Amino acid sequence: MDKQTSILLIYTGGTIGMINDPETGALRAFDFEHISAQVPALKRFGYKIHSISFEKPIDSSDIHPKVWIKLAKIIQENHDKYDGFVILHGTDTMSYSASALSFMLENLHKPVIFTGSQLPIETIRTDGKENIITSIEIAAAKRNGKPIVPEVCVYFENYLYRGNRTRKYNAEYFDAFESPNYPPLANVGIHIKYNYDAIHYPRHDKLIKINKKLDSNIGVLKLFPGIKKEFVQAVLSTKELKAVVMETFGSGNGPTDDWFIKLLKEAIDKGIIILNITQCNAGSVELGRYETSARFTEIGVVSGGDMTTEAAITKLMFLLGQNLTISELKNYLQKSIAGEITLTNDY
Ligand code: ASP
Repeated sequence: MDKQTSILLIYTGGTIGMINDPETGALRAFDFEHISAQVPALKRFGYKIHSISFEKPIDSSDIHPKVWIKLAKIIQENHDKYDGFVILHGTDTMSYSASALSFMLENLHKPVIFTGSQLPIETIRTDGKENIITSIEIAAAKRNGKPIVPEVCVYFENYLYRGNRTRKYNAEYFDAFESPNYPPLANVGIHIKYNYDAIHYPRHDKLIKINKKLDSNIGVLKLFPGIKKEFVQAVLSTKELKAVVMETFGSGNGPTDDWFIKLLKEAIDKGIIILNITQCNAGSVELGRYETSARFTEIGVVSGGDMTTEAAITKLMFLLGQNLTISELKNYLQKSIAGEITLTNDY
C-alpha cells in the first residue's frame, strides 16, 4: 500500500490567524488551534497533516533573519519525514522570507509553500481557507512518485509563484503578490495547471543542507530626483556596511553628478558592494544602455539584472555570510543560485 502523504504545516503568525483585540480593536496574532478549528476540511484530504506553531506567533513585520534560521532548521530536521511543507506567514514580508529560504535551503527536494491571507481566517469572506487548502494540495502533489514543485514558493489567490520572484504589491485586494519577471509555476482554477517548464528540478539527490549564516550589514538606497549629497554620504558611511542595494530608475539609471559618482566610487574602493536594482516593477537593469548608467559600470557597480529588491537583499545577506572574496561575491550576485535572476542569455 502507498505510504500516506504527509504534510508539515508551520504557523508563524500573520493576518490568517489574527483576531481583533477586544480592547484596542487592532488585529493581533492568535494561536494555531484557532486556525485548525476554522478549516475542518483539511481532514478530508486523507493526508497526515502535522503542525508546528511558533510559541509566540508574530506579525510578519517583526520577521528577522533569526526567524529564517529557525524555519530552515525545522525544514532540514523534517525534510525526510514529510512530503511537503506549508508555511503560514504574514503577507507583509512573505516575499523576503521566501527569498531568504530559497537561498538557505540547499539541495531542497520537497515543496516549501508560503501562504497566508489578507483577511483573518475567522472572517466570513476570508481568503485564508482557499489559500491553505490549495497550498496543501500543491505541497502534496506528485508526478511519477516525485514532488511536482520541489521549490520554495508563494501560493496566493490562484497563483503559485517561485518565492524569490515575488513581491507584495497590493495591500487591498486578495491577489496581493506578483511575479513580474517570471511566469507562475501553477495557475489554479477548476484545475491546478502546473507550468512544468518553469519549475526547477534538482539534478542530483544530494542531502539537504542549510546555510545558517546571514549577514545583515547591508542597506537600501532608493534614488530620487533631488537626492542630497549629505544623505548619500550618511548611508554610505554607515558603520560596518558591506553592501548596498541601490534602487535606480528605469533600466538601472541614476544621476550623473560628479559628487554622486565619487561617493559611490569611494565606497566601492573601500570594498562596499553596490548592487543596482531597478525601481520599476518589471524588467531588468541593463548597465550601459544609457549614459546615465555607463558610469556605474566604470566604477564597479554590480548589475542586479531583473532581481526583486527582496531577492537582492536576502541574496546579499546569504552571500555575505559565506566567507567569499569580493570578486567571488560579485560573481555570484550575477549568477542564478535559486532561480532568482534571469540571465541575459535567457532572454
Ligand atoms: N501585518 C500582517 C503580517 O504581515 C499582514 C498579513 O498577514 O497579511 O503579518
